[in-house]
Amino acid sequence: MAVAKSSIEMPVTVMTDLKGQTLVTLRTLTEKNPASLESYIKQGGYEQLKRIVTEKVKATDIITQIKVSNLRGRGGAGFPTGLKWSFMPRYFDGVKYLVCNSDEGEPGTFKDRDIIRYNPHQLIEGMAIAAYTLGARVGYNYIHGEIWQDYEIFENALHEAKAAGYLGENLFGTNFDFDLYAVHGYGAYICGEETALIESIEGKKGQPRFKPPFPASYGVFGKPTNVNNTESYASIPWILQHGGAAFAELGVSNSGGTKIFSVSGHVAKPGNYEVKMGIPFAELLDMAGGVWKGRKLKAVIPGGPSTAVMPFAAIIGATMDYDGLSKAGSSLGAGSMIVMDETTCMVKTLLRLSYFFYEESCGQCTPCREGTGWVYRVIKRIVDGQGRMEDLDLLKDVSNNISGRTICALGDAAATPVLSFIKHFRPEFEYYIQHGKSMVESATVEPATKEIA
Ligand code: SF4
Repeated sequence: MAVAKSSIEMPVTVMTDLKGQTLVTLRTLTEKNPASLESYIKQGGYEQLKRIVTEKVKATDIITQIKVSNLRGRGGAGFPTGLKWSFMPRYFDGVKYLVCNSDEGEPGTFKDRDIIRYNPHQLIEGMAIAAYTLGARVGYNYIHGEIWQDYEIFENALHEAKAAGYLGENLFGTNFDFDLYAVHGYGAYICGEETALIESIEGKKGQPRFKPPFPASYGVFGKPTNVNNTESYASIPWILQHGGAAFAELGVSNSGGTKIFSVSGHVAKPGNYEVKMGIPFAELLDMAGGVWKGRKLKAVIPGGPSTAVMPFAAIIGATMDYDGLSKAGSSLGAGSMIVMDETTCMVKTLLRLSYFFYEESCGQCTPCREGTGWVYRVIKRIVDGQGRMEDLDLLKDVSNNISGRTICALGDAAATPVLSFIKHFRPEFEYYIQHGKSMVESATVEPATKEIA
């Protein structure tokens, strides 16, 4: 089969040492030009799509394999993918849509862009398999607005796949059609919320919808729509090739497979690491070269800023999976692990995070719109040396009144860092209020807060 040549120079460098990694969604990283169709074909690419389409494998059998795999949504919520697929109406007569959420925009998240950058065809095949299973004929991959090069790489992969007969009409000589398009977002964090993303695809302002109805019944243009994360779709071809049980065995009970952890902050070798779900935190930190400059570990945000910060004592014995991190007092989120060393000022770090959520609130709900700005201004007052001791209770009160009172999860996401930072590092906040300066930056070691912020 003819393979279209790429007009784009593909990146060929690999961000991290592959030693110790288990490559599922990033399996073409062992190839010289990982993003190319040739590389993906060498890895057995598109064989599963061809098999299920030509052999007319039943949708229910595919969904069963996905359920057996224990694949949970990799965008942050961790909802079981097979169960989500079973929500799509099977006997709906009209158009159904498939959407991929590649709108990662939280600080510290950078995994989906590497799937697009290094293995876009596995994502395309995963989406095509999902389309066949769920009866969708049109799909969109919504790509975050600040990663233009990756958008072009994905567009190029779409052209390659279409030219090779993996997208389009009458695939493999059957009556299965699937058209897939790339949609370039504009960089708003809130468009990573699935209903805001759908609004944006429709050409509207990206603001979340009230739920229910959920996208499975009322999605793109009011039609049934399945939305999954990039990493979730990219796991599908491997699951069908090796079986759901094999995928489940890679991980831990209740959460199968591998997970890409985006490790950033104060480590010697930041980057993406695809490892088995449930890897001990200490092992993952070791893969990332440990804490940089020989310093001590102070805290970790394990899954992105919307997950609770964990001090050294809580994270050091934890395993990196949904249940493991939940037991240890936080959550896996999108697997965006931000490491902070002993010189990090937690007050200034929280100021930076609170500004992010304040700026990214879409403004629909009063608790989120007003509360995130209020929280930011109070923390700013502390950092400016004007803080009052009662500000700490005020911050908790405002955060508790945002959480659970909004249309979408951004409200909870904004409240979580405030509550967890004050819970675990209250003495630092009190010191800052009493002395008008940072506790750790008053110490002799060179402060690193400005590097992480
Ligand atoms: Fe918008 Fe915030 Fe309400 Fe979400 S919680 S809909 S971001 S105002």
